[in-house]
Amino acid sequence: MISVKEARRIIDDHISIVTQEKVSINVAEGRVLAQDIVASFPQPRFNNSAMDGFAVRAADTKGASKKNPVDLRMVGVVSAGSLGDIVVGPGQCAQCMTGALIPEGADAIVMVESSSGYESGPEVQMYTEVQEGQHIRRVGEEIQSGKVLINDGSSITTAELGTLATFGYKDVRVYRKPRLAIFATGDELVEPGNDLLPGQIYNSNLYVFEDLVRRAGAEVTLKSVIKDDQASLKTFLTDAFYSCDMIISSGGVSMGRFDYVRDVLMELNVMEHFWRVAQKPGKPLFFGSREKALIFGLPGNPVSAFIGFMEYVWPVLEIMSGQSGSSTLSAVLDESFPCEKEKTRYLFGNIWSENGQLICAPSKKVGSHMLTSSLKANCIIISEPGDKPLTKGSKIRVHLLPWKTIK
Ligand code: AMP
Ligand code: MG
Repeated sequence: MISVKEARRIIDDHISIVTQEKVSINVAEGRVLAQDIVASFPQPRFNNSAMDGFAVRAADTKGASKKNPVDLRMVGVVSAGSLGDIVVGPGQCAQCMTGALIPEGADAIVMVESSSGYESGPEVQMYTEVQEGQHIRRVGEEIQSGKVLINDGSSITTAELGTLATFGYKDVRVYRKPRLAIFATGDELVEPGNDLLPGQIYNSNLYVFEDLVRRAGAEVTLKSVIKDDQASLKTFLTDAFYSCDMIISSGGVSMGRFDYVRDVLMELNVMEHFWRVAQKPGKPLFFGSREKALIFGLPGNPVSAFIGFMEYVWPVLEIMSGQSGSSTLSAVLDESFPCEKEKTRYLFGNIWSENGQLICAPSKKVGSHMLTSSLKANCIIISEPGDKPLTKGSKIRVHLLPWKTIK
């Protein structure tokens, strides 16, 4: 049996980053960028009007007011998207819409609300004095050409998509999604929707795995619930090795008479890197590899499977797909925490902020079969091996579930 720290070190030595591919921004949502996104031009790209109004020479409006309007002669109209090839001379103005190019000669905009008479024209009355540059969006005031806008490794969400389109990116280079095979083992497992006979239970682990794989930015390409039977395991695994970057199983890796997963993996030339880790829950954790494929054999107990995925598989998926890892928090216990003498202890729990301090409390349900302990939890709380329970007020490590927030 090895320590959690040693297990992590061994896993780290076997991770390789997936290849990259180009995708259209139409389908890039949720993907991880494999390139820095650079401003391909300054933004704004040209001086343009921030208001619907009139492009004027600011000096011409000096002293203008509602009582003493200044009359300027309108020489043209510039709409957003038009070439703006008009010259505004002294005593002249051009009607200019929001986003339209500022015509040559003009250096400010008078808002349409501060004018009258353009419908009858050609003289327009300006009711207000404007300063040079007023209501003009200047070239490059938002960003200079060549500046990095979004870093390699960022996830593409709404803001990134909008920014990519703003700067004319049609395709982007992203990391390929890691492809995963997931399977559950157990003669007792039945799919929801069917009746249960005595001794049977519903398979929940594959639902947990599939959702976590998707949340981590990877994809499930093979999935199956398999009986405790070596031939069926072999058939599934042979397909999985052929097409997947990672294989994750639940169940069948402990000491039970029908726990065949480890034996079958060995038969299929998987190199075992470790099998048992000094932790609770989830001691019978298998990690191996065959060529580039990584294999995690997680225990069947639902809490062990969920926590095992979050503590071991999730960080690997982040690294494989180019993302920066989530961090560990430190929080103060609001109640005591049941340490294990020689094992790292994990429990689902809650972390919250109070008077500028992070506080946490473990779930009262401590059994590894009690999956409802994950309901309402926003974190996993972790104690190092220790003789006595950690008392209220002690500091403890916490991993926030990445899709949850701290209130
Ligand atoms: P095992 O690791 O196969 O010995 O299973 C440990 C416990 O987890 C047993 O009580 C199993 O019935 C249960 N279990 C195994 N697989 C699943 C699953 N896919 N969903 C829910 N419970 C499971
Ligand atoms: Mg089993």
